Amino acid sequence: MAPLELPETQQDWVRFLSARCDDQLTVARERVELIASQPDARVEVTLARWNAVTLALLNATSAATFFSQAHPDEALRTKAERAEQEAASLSDEVRQDRRLYAVFAAIDTDALDPQAARMLALTMREFRRAGVELDEQARQRLHQLVERCTTLARQFQSNITDDIRSISLTPEQLDGLADDYIAAHPPGADGRVVVTTSFPDAIPFLRFARDTAARREVATQFNCQGWPANDPVLHELLGLRRERARLLGYDSWADYDAEIKMVGSGAAIREFIDRVSSVAVPVAHREIEALERRMRHDQPHGVDAAARDKLHASDLGYYTEVIRRERYDVDAQEVRRYLDCSKVVTGLLDVTGRLFGLEFVEVPTAPTWHPDVDTYDVLDAGVLIGRFHLDLHPRPGKYALGQHFAITRGVDNVQLPQSALFIDVPRGLLEHEDVVALFHEFGHLLNSVLGGHVTWARDSGVATERDFVEAPSQMLEEWAHDHGVLRSFATDGDGYPIPAELIARMRAADSFGRGLFVADLAAFGAVSLALHEEVPDDLTACANAAFARHMPVPQLPDTHAYAAWEHLADERYGSGCYAYSWSHIIAKDLLSGFDPVDLMAPEPARRYRDQVLTPGGSRDGADLIEAFLGRASSTAAFDRWLTGPSGQQ
Ligand SMILES: [Zn+2]
Repeated sequence: MAPLELPETQQDWVRFLSARCDDQLTVARERVELIASQPDARVEVTLARWNAVTLALLNATSAATFFSQAHPDEALRTKAERAEQEAASLSDEVRQDRRLYAVFAAIDTDALDPQAARMLALTMREFRRAGVELDEQARQRLHQLVERCTTLARQFQSNITDDIRSISLTPEQLDGLADDYIAAHPPGADGRVVVTTSFPDAIPFLRFARDTAARREVATQFNCQGWPANDPVLHELLGLRRERARLLGYDSWADYDAEIKMVGSGAAIREFIDRVSSVAVPVAHREIEALERRMRHDQPHGVDAAARDKLHASDLGYYTEVIRRERYDVDAQEVRRYLDCSKVVTGLLDVTGRLFGLEFVEVPTAPTWHPDVDTYDVLDAGVLIGRFHLDLHPRPGKYALGQHFAITRGVDNVQLPQSALFIDVPRGLLEHEDVVALFHEFGHLLNSVLGGHVTWARDSGVATERDFVEAPSQMLEEWAHDHGVLRSFATDGDGYPIPAELIARMRAADSFGRGLFVADLAAFGAVSLALHEEVPDDLTACANAAFARHMPVPQLPDTHAYAAWEHLADERYGSGCYAYSWSHIIAKDLLSGFDPVDLMAPEPARRYRDQVLTPGGSRDGADLIEAFLGRASSTAAFDRWLTGPSGQQ
C-alpha cells in the first residue's frame, strides 16, 4: 500500500481538497443510504459499510482540519475551513439517523467478535449522545445547537489569533534576554522596541527580562488576549452546551462530556482536582517562599515592605529561572549552545527509531504544502507502515503552538496513516523546552502511525479517551531529559557533547517549580469545570475564584487569561482541561515500567509499543495501562515525582 500523495501545484491542491473533503462526504452519504435503505442480512456487510462511513467522515475532517490551519494559501485555508464545518455537520446528522440506529440495534452483539462488539457499542453510544432517541423537535434543536457551537468555537479561536498585542519598551527593558532575541527586536525610528504577545516573543521575555514593570506589562497584555471579544462568545457557548446536555438528560455539560472519558463524571473531576492540588499546594508554598526570598534581594531599599515582598504571577517564570541558574547553576542560555535545531531533529528521529524498532526514511521528492516541510516514510522491519511530515519553523501566517495532526487515519488494508508535526521552533539554537515539545508531539505522531493499523476506523491512532491521549507524549518527554539520550545529539558548534554534569544539574533544576506547575495545571482544570457548571454572567469572577482555590499565586489584576484558552472552545476539552493533569499521572505511571538507568532498553520499549501504542483506540485507557504494567494504574509514581528529592524522575 502506498501513502496518499499530496499535490504539487495550486490547481492540484484545489482538486485534492475537493477529493478529500467533498467527495468523501458524498461517499459517507451514499453508504449511509445503502445501510438504511438496502439493509443486508449479513452483519459483516453492514459493519463494513459503517466502517466506510466512519472512515470517509474522518478523511474529510482530518484533511479539512489540518489544511485550514497549515496551508500557506489563504483561499485554500478558507475552503478547508468550510469543509471542516460541513464534515462536522454531516457527522452530527449521521449520528441522529434513526434508520441507521434501528439497523444497529437489531444486530445480535453476542455473535460478534469482541472488537466488533466494542466498536458497535461505542457507536450506539455516540448515536444516543447525538440525540437519536429524542423526538424530532428535540433532535432538530440539538442539531442547531451543535452547529451554533461549532461557529462559536471558531469565533473564539479567531478572536485570540486576531488579537496579538504589541508592547512598546525601551531597549534597556530587554536587559536579561539572549543576544539573538535582542537582535531580532531592534529599536524603531522612535528609539523604542516592540515586543508582542505571540508565544516566541512573550515567553522568553517573561522568563528572562530583568525589568519587573516591563514583565508585568507584557504578562498583563498576554493574559488579556481575546478579551473582551471572547466574553460574549464564551458565555453563549457555555449556555448552549448546558442546554445540549440537559436535552440529553445530563445535569451539566461536564457530566455529559466526562461520560466518554476515563474520569466518568463531573463530580469525579472535582474530586480529582482537589486531590492533585492537595499534594501540589504544600510543595508550591515552599517554592513560593524560595522565590520571594530571592526576589527581596533585587528590590530597592525604601519600598514599602508589603508591596516589596509580594510575588506576582509575572515574577514566577523569571525568578524560577534565577533560582535554577543560581542554586543549580543551570543557565538556559548556556544549555542552548548544545541544541542546534537540525541536530536535535536528527537525534529525535534516531532515538525514537532505535527505541521502537522503526526506520524513518526521508522522502525528499514528496510534494508538501510548503518547501520548509520535510517528509519521512516509516518502515517496520523493512515494511512501509506510514508517512509523516515535519513542519517546524515559523513563517508569515503560520501560528503553531505545537500540535500533531493526522492527515489520514490508518486502517488495516485500506489506507496508511499519515501525520504532521506542526510547531514553531527557531531554525538555529533551541531552548531545552523546545526539545521537550518536539519529543512530546512526536509521541502523538508515533501513536497515530503505530495505532493506524486497526480494523475499525473509529479506533485508529490517537483515538483513546481524551484524558488518556496525552499520556504517551507526556511520557516520551522524559527521553528529552535523559543523560544518554541528550548526549547522543546535543553537541556544540565544535562538536563537543553537552557535559554529563550539566545534564545532571538540569535535572535537579527541573525539579524546582514542580509544585507551582502542577497547581497551575490543576487550577486550569478547575476553571474549565467551574465555567461549565456555573455558566456565570461574570466569567472573570468565576474563573478567578476557581483559579485561586488551587493556585496560591493570584492572577494579575484586570487580566482574563481564560479568554485566550483555546481548550475551552474545543469540545474535546471544554470542561475537561483536568485531562492534562490526569494523563500526566498516567505518564509517570507508565514511565515506571521502563528501566530508569537505561531508558533505551529494548524489552520494555517493545512491550510498550505493542501494548500501548499499537492498539490505538481499540482498547480502553485503563486496559492499555494494565496490559503494559501488569497492574491497575496508580498515582504513586506521580506523588513520588512531585514530593520526592530533586532530580528524581
Ligand atoms: Zn499533546
